[in-house]
Amino acid sequence: MVVGDLAQEVDVLVIGAGPGGYVAAIRAAQLGRKVTIVDKDALGGVCLNRGCIPSKALITASERFLSIKEADQMGIEVSGDVKVNMPELMKWKDGVVKKLTGGVKSLLQGNKVEIISGEAYFNGTDSVRVVTDDSSQTYKFNDVIIATGSRPAELPILRFDGKRILSSTEALQLQEVPGRLVVVGGGYIGLELGTAYAKLGAEVTILEGAKSILPGSDPALTKMVMRRLKQLGVNVVTEAMVQGGENKGEEVEIKATVGGEEKTYTADYCLVAIGRKPNTDELGLEYAQVELDERGFIKIDNQCRTNVDHIYAIGDCAGGALLAHKASYEGKVAAEVIAGMNSVIDYQAMPFVVFSDPEIAYTGLTEEEAKEQGYDPVVSRFAFQANGRALSMNQADGFVKIVADSETKQVLGVQIVGPEASTLIGEAVFAVEMGANAEDLSLTIHAHPTLTETIMEAAEGVLGHAIHMVNR
Ligand code: FAD
Repeated sequence: MVVGDLAQEVDVLVIGAGPGGYVAAIRAAQLGRKVTIVDKDALGGVCLNRGCIPSKALITASERFLSIKEADQMGIEVSGDVKVNMPELMKWKDGVVKKLTGGVKSLLQGNKVEIISGEAYFNGTDSVRVVTDDSSQTYKFNDVIIATGSRPAELPILRFDGKRILSSTEALQLQEVPGRLVVVGGGYIGLELGTAYAKLGAEVTILEGAKSILPGSDPALTKMVMRRLKQLGVNVVTEAMVQGGENKGEEVEIKATVGGEEKTYTADYCLVAIGRKPNTDELGLEYAQVELDERGFIKIDNQCRTNVDHIYAIGDCAGGALLAHKASYEGKVAAEVIAGMNSVIDYQAMPFVVFSDPEIAYTGLTEEEAKEQGYDPVVSRFAFQANGRALSMNQADGFVKIVADSETKQVLGVQIVGPEASTLIGEAVFAVEMGANAEDLSLTIHAHPTLTETIMEAAEGVLGHAIHMVNR
């Protein structure tokens, strides 16, 4: 490494070009700051390259495949074999990723953000050194936003080998549909990828240590997903404590204790999806004196400030919900604070989405949380079975549940399990964010026949006058 290189002065430096970093960079540039962004890898971060986007491409392809195989339910006869060509599927998925990462580059350039490729490492409270393959350069900044994200957490007793024991990154690059796949971890990543591979034809076993999949989620929502997993032939083993595993060459063997009994699961591949670890350990943060919490996440306040003046942190590396939209939201807040605005983080209307089958999405408070916060909540639940569009899509499992304050009818939270829950939650997020009440949703004319009518009907249920269900 070159020592003592002449420092270049930059105004705002953003480390990491994921959905947190690139959004922060663009927003800071919009606000008149001169921005430099550095990433050691591809623009777009985990989200675009090995997270949200490739996983959703895989999920969509697997749903398309299954719907072709099940087309006879709608009277469509498909003759001949319907096959999955994994290398072609992966090529298509990579094409989607490429379009988006190319878009990020154009947007950064269009906003006059300087892009640097290399690994950043703090060497003080106001400077970083960026190392590339053959050079290194020190940058002195006025403000820095750390947006270095996270990586898959490893089980010490079951280390990734990239061949048979995979992280989500490798599981999104498989060139064949596994005959058998064991997924360790029934959180959203394991569940989404496990379901996709089951739909593509793999025999899938999910091993989850907790009592249910998606630990912490409303059991009423996960029940629907469990039912569908059973229909898809996915073997979900809860309270399964993985003890270790071994790549046996042609297959992998996973040992787990289930209900006090030792069990062995054999598969072609094992996906370990037990959580994520912040990228804060190889960043020289000790030289910047930035404080971390006990799990290694950077501590920030409600304006994304760390304990050190002019150093901000956003997204996965700052903990909380490890989600792309949360990273982008914090990116905008940090950029605005740096530009002198009084923006603050408010997670009251944060959406949470699981692209399971059926999809799960929620925002705001659950009934229990509302009670804990001193509300007297009224709850209304509308089933997709009573919605014309859901039935005509042949996807009528699930419901929309609205939690409102019984006195003011203010919408406190919404939970959805069902078709397109990921899209439907947008209206609910808007309602919670603007403090709308059930009447606002009920008075809004919703197009027919659409899934959005379920939100209107659930809101009418809060008011006691839903049309397409009998009001209690
Ligand atoms: P990242 O996207 O992790 O980006 C960090 C960037 O920093 C990387 O490009 C990295 O190369 C760079 N970097 C790190 N260290 C350095 C350094 N020292 N110097 C220079 N550069 C550095 N979220 C959702 O909201 N919806 C989803 O559907 C969803 N699906 C997911 C599916 C999978 C399989 C996975 C793994 C994740 C998924 N996520 C999803 C989570 C989402 O990807 C992350 O929350 C999001 O990417 C976090 O954004 P970020 O900007 O904080 O960090």
